[in-house]
Amino acid sequence: MPTRQRPFVVEILTLLALVAAPFVLPHLGFSPTTINRILIWALVGIGFDLLFGFTGLLSFGQAAFFGTGGMFAAWLLTQTSFTNTLVALLLGTVVAGVVGYLVGLIALRRTGIYFAMITVAIAEVFFFVEFNPLSAYTGGENGLPGVPTPNLMLGFTTIEFDSNMSMYVFFAFWYFVGLVLALRLVRSPVGLLLRAIRDNPLRAQALGHDIHGYKLAVFVVAAMYSGFAGGLLGMMQGFMPPDAFMFATSGEIVMQTAIGGAGWLFGPLLGATTWLFLSDFFQTTLNLGGTWKLVLGVVFVLLVVFLRRGLVGAIVDLYHLVRRGKAPAEPEAATTQAAAAPAAHSSATVVAMPVRRKATAGKSGPILQVTGLTKRYGGLVANLDIDFSVDHGEMRGIIGPNGAGKSTFFKMLTCEVVPTAGRIVFDGRDITGLGVADACQLGLTKSYQINQLFDRLTVRQNLAIAALGELRGKFKLDMFESLPKVPGLDPQVESTAALVHLVDRLDTPVAELAYGEKRRLEIGLALATSPSLLLLDEPLAGMSPQERVATVGLLKSIAQGRTMIVIDHDMDSLFELVERVTVLQEGRVLVEGTPEEIKSNAKVQEAYLGGVGEELAFHGGLA
Ligand code: ADP
Repeated sequence: MPTRQRPFVVEILTLLALVAAPFVLPHLGFSPTTINRILIWALVGIGFDLLFGFTGLLSFGQAAFFGTGGMFAAWLLTQTSFTNTLVALLLGTVVAGVVGYLVGLIALRRTGIYFAMITVAIAEVFFFVEFNPLSAYTGGENGLPGVPTPNLMLGFTTIEFDSNMSMYVFFAFWYFVGLVLALRLVRSPVGLLLRAIRDNPLRAQALGHDIHGYKLAVFVVAAMYSGFAGGLLGMMQGFMPPDAFMFATSGEIVMQTAIGGAGWLFGPLLGATTWLFLSDFFQTTLNLGGTWKLVLGVVFVLLVVFLRRGLVGAIVDLYHLVRRGKAPAEPEAATTQAAAAPAAHSSATVVAMPVRRKATAGKSGPILQVTGLTKRYGGLVANLDIDFSVDHGEMRGIIGPNGAGKSTFFKMLTCEVVPTAGRIVFDGRDITGLGVADACQLGLTKSYQINQLFDRLTVRQNLAIAALGELRGKFKLDMFESLPKVPGLDPQVESTAALVHLVDRLDTPVAELAYGEKRRLEIGLALATSPSLLLLDEPLAGMSPQERVATVGLLKSIAQGRTMIVIDHDMDSLFELVERVTVLQEGRVLVEGTPEEIKSNAKVQEAYLGGVGEELAFHGGLA
């Protein structure tokens, strides 16, 4: 991954490869035009990879921006008196960005396949508009001929890039600039949040991030890469072709990225190299006539099926294989065993969070006041007229049989679900109907009953995503800042990891964690946001008795100086933790009291045991 590389290694290697390419590739059968064309596709591909490989947004509409940027630059240079090619390129890029913003506003209203379909439809609209209403400007089906080759107007002199080789220098320079900017982006806080959105958009939002804003930002960035590359295409060919707008253009970008590998930034470069080389090779060297597309299609299918992480993924896997052959084997069994048994609570493991922006220490009175809270799903009443209040520093438990409405209640508190009626006041502010990201920003967050983690990222990255919500706010375009340089990030990540006993696993990918560790990370994510009110939805769910004991110890250590509400079915453990308990039944508050009062309450016995009155529900005894 680019984020793990030592500084500038990737940049230097790329620079060397770009210098060597025009001398080496012709010996392998690449024509000079093909080499220049590869760079143009690779530039579009960098933007597309940021969108697809890093953010998980599959767009089939990049041709719209490729065509728009290219046509605008070509129009300036052929239909007006404009002669500065560089400024024309940059203006084309800006126009593509503005168009990308407008398209993004519409397309990003939907996700998944619907998003992809909207991008296809919008690109088709652009194709139509280029051909008909705007043909006076775009040349319609003829395109715009006479686009000049690139130049650099320095005032005292003008450098012309009019030969294949000089054009290569111009294109390679811009490819390199594009790559360096993209590397900075993926190593920035925004870059990490894009991956968070790819892996688990709902959790990214629940951790306080404006995911729509970040998606729109990366959509615009991808459009700008396309627009700039479109401008280069016109200059390379001396003619801006209308087929830049065609669906086939968008399709080729997707296929080249799939061949090269998504999420590496270099995938599109390798993909374009393979794709363009093979199409040249099948058409000219092998003279396959019309069947070349069929053969290319078969090769494409084979590459994508057998190299699931693309060519770059295969190279990286090979590199690790060779290195592992040399390096001593990882003591995997030992780490797995240590991971499986969470460290029991001890005073030595109690670590305070370094910063608590939303510190509520010293405050008293209610932090949360809920009145008349109701949630109906059609005819089904999940919560009905709930009045509920929690004081600063309190540890509250919520119990109730399955279907009592506990999770729905939590979802309304964290603003994941809008109540049908009622009011929620948090820390003196009415938050009813506020978004989940805003609630988290105010200091109210939840750990989930079913883990909601970022599986492809490490423990450190997971905790950083959570901590960034507090440290940077809901939305910040610090695209070119280095992630490790975010003030306060490292201490917050490390102290949270210490709290949930995951310090030794900070650089382990989440997918490799044991279940108990994942549960602790789930709590850690909520903790890393420095909440002033923390909700825990069944933190002990799915744990072995041994893990439960350790986790109760962990929760006790976390509870110091915090306000928490915990839902759990394990009443022995819950009653050990909390000061007061609220019992929900059929969506209503049945009773509220201390654990002792709840244990001996007849209504609770009735609710749990159907009036049988057996001493079964609690080991401690419902005597
Ligand atoms: P608990 O957490 O106490 O088990 P829930 O809050 O999950 O209870 O559910 C309470 C009731 O609301 C259940 O009958 C459940 O089926 C219903 N419910 C929860 N979420 C939805 C939903 N999204 N759509 C329809 N019904 C729902």
